[in-house]
Amino acid sequence: MKNMAMKELDNEIIKERSKSIRTKGRQSQPIQCEADSVAGCVSQRACVYCGARVVLNPITDAVHLVHGPIGCASYTWDIRGSLSSGSDLYRYSFSTDLREEDIIFGGEKKLARCIDELVERYHPGLLLVYATCIVGVIGDDLGAVCKAASLRHKIDIIPVESAGFSGNKSDGYRAACDVLLRMIASEEAVPKKDNCLNYLGDFNLAGEAWIIKSYLNEIGIHVNVAITGDSTYDTLLEAPSASLNIVQCAGSMGYMGKRMEQIYGMPCMNISFLGLEDTMDSLRRISSFFDNYFISSRAEALIKREYELYAPVVESCRARLQDKKAAIFVGGGFKAISLIKQFRELGMEVVMVGTQTGREEEYDTIHQMVTDGTVVLDDANPSELETFMLEQGADLLVGGVKERPLAFKLGIAFIDHNHERKHPLSGFIGAANFAQEVYATVCSPVWRYLNLDGI
Ligand code: SF4
Repeated sequence: MKNMAMKELDNEIIKERSKSIRTKGRQSQPIQCEADSVAGCVSQRACVYCGARVVLNPITDAVHLVHGPIGCASYTWDIRGSLSSGSDLYRYSFSTDLREEDIIFGGEKKLARCIDELVERYHPGLLLVYATCIVGVIGDDLGAVCKAASLRHKIDIIPVESAGFSGNKSDGYRAACDVLLRMIASEEAVPKKDNCLNYLGDFNLAGEAWIIKSYLNEIGIHVNVAITGDSTYDTLLEAPSASLNIVQCAGSMGYMGKRMEQIYGMPCMNISFLGLEDTMDSLRRISSFFDNYFISSRAEALIKREYELYAPVVESCRARLQDKKAAIFVGGGFKAISLIKQFRELGMEVVMVGTQTGREEEYDTIHQMVTDGTVVLDDANPSELETFMLEQGADLLVGGVKERPLAFKLGIAFIDHNHERKHPLSGFIGAANFAQEVYATVCSPVWRYLNLDGI
């Protein structure tokens, strides 16, 4: 059955996409990436607005107002499993709900009315207004409306320039980072705090930022603010007082780390808390940055304790996953690299790796890590993912919510490594959770009972 489906899909690779798909050992040219999607491909990549919103939405005490038709707000409603230790204002999805009349005559007055109503009802310290495609087309002056409202209400009301068509998801990340940089900018020099860092690119999915904060606290390092998981307006303003930025999701926050290095002279370190190997390596690199004997010795003690607790769980799953094959399609290249290492820890072969927004240097690393025959693809579409999962004989796809139905309809196991999950996959406990989830889904007896001849 799988061969039949593969035959049907085989001719559906669009010619213009060929430079963005590489099979290791068969093609030597570098992959084409960091480019706009090919028209007609139904790319898996999200739009500029979505990219901006996923980064900013975890600011828990802000009002997030989407200026556009209701569909844009609905598309990103409750977009992530980000958890909050306080306010839950971020969980609302406010929209100006633009209609035909607003499109013809302009939406600025409606936007101003919405802002007034939201400030009166919720009294936020920060209100973010997201531009959507249609706002870019009709030319509403978001900056002017926000500035006037800001003066009226004496709070920060900031436009997010994220018209959906004005680039790709990466441009949305950058727009969000520019908003954050503008927000934390201060004319006064900020005093530095001791042994203190900012944790960039963690959105506290299923409480992951809390796990990493507990590790760092235990070894004597204070997390000033996670940007943006479980952050608040006030905590974000403290960001310049740290002495180091660590970046988990380099795709969304690498730019912010670089800009803070230029503006505040704050060093920036890419780390990853996905998998045992990367978690241990990251803790060691962070502790060596602070060059403090007590921090380093506490880090080693924590690593020893946690490794002894969770490595046996990973090992027991590894024993049952030896001949299984994994496919990866995630947002950023840095996460894909960590996942390749995690599948190695589980003794699984990675046969397909793709990302939405991977960069050239990340694809170089991926190319070096994978074995001959592995398919690597940038900004894939559903047809390509289906074709290569079948061709490569993948037993499992790890991806986001948009990839789930692709895997299930082909009878392939799936793990959500993005939006909706309710259990953490970061840190030592996350590595054990991941291993158990891979084992449970790949080795589930359900796959034996599928009859896919009808699809
Ligand atoms: S901003 Fe544009 S591309 Fe994004 S969800 Fe709205 S209409 Fe769709």
